[in-house]
Amino acid sequence: MTAPASTRPYNFSAGPAAFPEEVLRLAAADMLDWHGSGMGVMEMSHRGKEFISIYEQAEADLRELLAVPAHFRILFMQGGGLAENAIVPLNLSRGTAADFVITGSWSQKSLKEARKYCTARVAASTEADGHTTLPDPAGWQLGSDAAYVHICTNETIHGVEFQALPDLKALGSKAPLVIDFSSHVASRPVDWSRVGLAFGGAQKNLGPAGVTLVVVREDLLGHALPACPSAFDYRIVADNHSMYNTPPTWAIYIAGLTFQWLKKQGGIAAMEQRNIAKATLLYDFIDHSQLYVNKVAPGCRSRMNVPFFLRDESRNDAFLAGAKNRGLLQLKGHKSVGGMRASIYNAMPIAGVQALVDYMQEFERTQS
Ligand SMILES: *Cc1c(COP(=O)(O)O)cnc(C)c1O
Repeated sequence: MTAPASTRPYNFSAGPAAFPEEVLRLAAADMLDWHGSGMGVMEMSHRGKEFISIYEQAEADLRELLAVPAHFRILFMQGGGLAENAIVPLNLSRGTAADFVITGSWSQKSLKEARKYCTARVAASTEADGHTTLPDPAGWQLGSDAAYVHICTNETIHGVEFQALPDLKALGSKAPLVIDFSSHVASRPVDWSRVGLAFGGAQKNLGPAGVTLVVVREDLLGHALPACPSAFDYRIVADNHSMYNTPPTWAIYIAGLTFQWLKKQGGIAAMEQRNIAKATLLYDFIDHSQLYVNKVAPGCRSRMNVPFFLRDESRNDAFLAGAKNRGLLQLKGHKSVGGMRASIYNAMPIAGVQALVDYMQEFERTQS
């Protein structure tokens, strides 16, 4: 069966975000009967051989795609990125101290939540410049007693992305690095030698809302505070292969289809090249236009989330209405920042970014 040519609009949502159309079609075809089992995936026991095979394939594909080393465990949890803001200190802080680098709204939220469980300190912050830069790691105030150092590697709202992970050892810190990679996971390779734990909600780049990915180094398991809920204790979750309680089975299955799709696209290195091409196309256009502006310093602009403003903000509604008419959806910026935001995750083809640029060009022409 060949799929009909797509007539779906291009969806620039920041999350939950657009899926590869192929994944949606596969899921639709499997909805009533997965592979002749007579059951849809949502109707299967998580302990039955059918679902176990789905789970094992998804985990193996993800490990291969992200090149996760053997001494890291892959956990599929629930609660989203925000729950991890509590689950991480519950598991890693040992009730002592942790250092946070504040580069936007998400790291700010992580800091605030961690304060319930440990002494959470600000190691560096870009609040003064409206989170349009990244602080040089050489200047971070890292405590020698920190149980971990937290950064958000892609700030979804402010559009700021670390282009390389900091090397904490080289900075004289023995603390493991915790990264919130919710909104750019699988868009570029991860240097696991610099990471202790990575977490991310699935709904940006991996799958449906409802499953949360945690990749954690073995030696960080087994240190949860006594008050940590069992279902959120990484040691217990790992020992039970993410099935201590019922996992979000359908979300894991859809994420698994996305992993298969990613492999077919050539894996993460190929995705990264495409993501660079997409982001370059959009930023170059914005930088050369008279109407649009992106305020983030060029060296730390996100490849995934591109906030931009019209120099004449009174035209915002007209811009969005025209975009919608063209089948370019969900371009409104986050309410805390304003303006527009184009999220161009893995599932966004370059043709979608080109369609956006064509529209922006035309809109600019009609304004002068
Ligand atoms: C979306 C997002 C989250 C929030 O995830 P929830 O699943 O809503 O809890 C956390 N961190 C970052 C960087 C995000 O982009």
